[in-house]
Amino acid sequence: MNIPQNIIVHHTLVSRKKNPTQFDAVDRYHKGKGWGMIGYHYLIEADGTVKKGREENVSGAHTSQKMMNYRSIGICLTGNFDIEEPTLKQCKALHSLIVQLQGKYSIPEKNVFPHRHFATYKSCWGSLLPNDILGYCKEEIGSENKESDLEKWQEEEVKWASKYVKDIPALLAGNIFSIIALIHRAVTGDDRYNQDK
Ligand SMILES: [Zn+2]
Repeated sequence: MNIPQNIIVHHTLVSRKKNPTQFDAVDRYHKGKGWGMIGYHYLIEADGTVKKGREENVSGAHTSQKMMNYRSIGICLTGNFDIEEPTLKQCKALHSLIVQLQGKYSIPEKNVFPHRHFATYKSCWGSLLPNDILGYCKEEIGSENKESDLEKWQEEEVKWASKYVKDIPALLAGNIFSIIALIHRAVTGDDRYNQDK
C-alpha cells in the first residue's frame, strides 16, 4: 500500500553512453534482489520515454528512510548524473510527469525531493544536479527556448543584412576565398579573384 505524498527522483548511476535503454536491466537487477519487479513507479529513458514500473498505489522499493516507500512516488532517470546531465527530453518528460502527479495527489513543490535528501550518504539524483528538481527542469526547458529565440534573432539579422549587403551568401558560406575576393573587388573593382565568374 502506497499513499503518495512525496515525489522522489533517482538516477540509475549507469551512463546512457554505456546503455541508452535501461528499463529491462533495472527490472532484472531489482528482481534479482527479490523485489518482484522494478522498485520505481516510473523510469524515464534518455530519449524521454516514460516507462511504467509499479502501480502508484503499490509501495515502492527505492527509498527506505522515513517509510518513504509507503509515502511516495519513485521516479528514476537513466544516466549517471555524477558525470553527465539529463537529456532535454528527460527534463521535459520529468517536469510534466511531476506536475501531473502533483495535481493528481495534491503534492506541494516542497515535497519533491532527490533521493539524497533521505539517503544522505548518496549523491542520487546526481552530484551535478541541484536539489530544486522542478527549478532545474524549468531552467533547462527555458534555455532551449532562449536558444531558439537567438536563432530567430540571427535569422532576422541575416534578412536585414541581405537587403543591404550584396553577396551575403558568399559571406555566410564562410568561404574565405569568396570573402577575400569580395573585399578585393570592393576595394579595387577588379573581379579576377571571383571564382564564380
Ligand atoms: Zn536513488
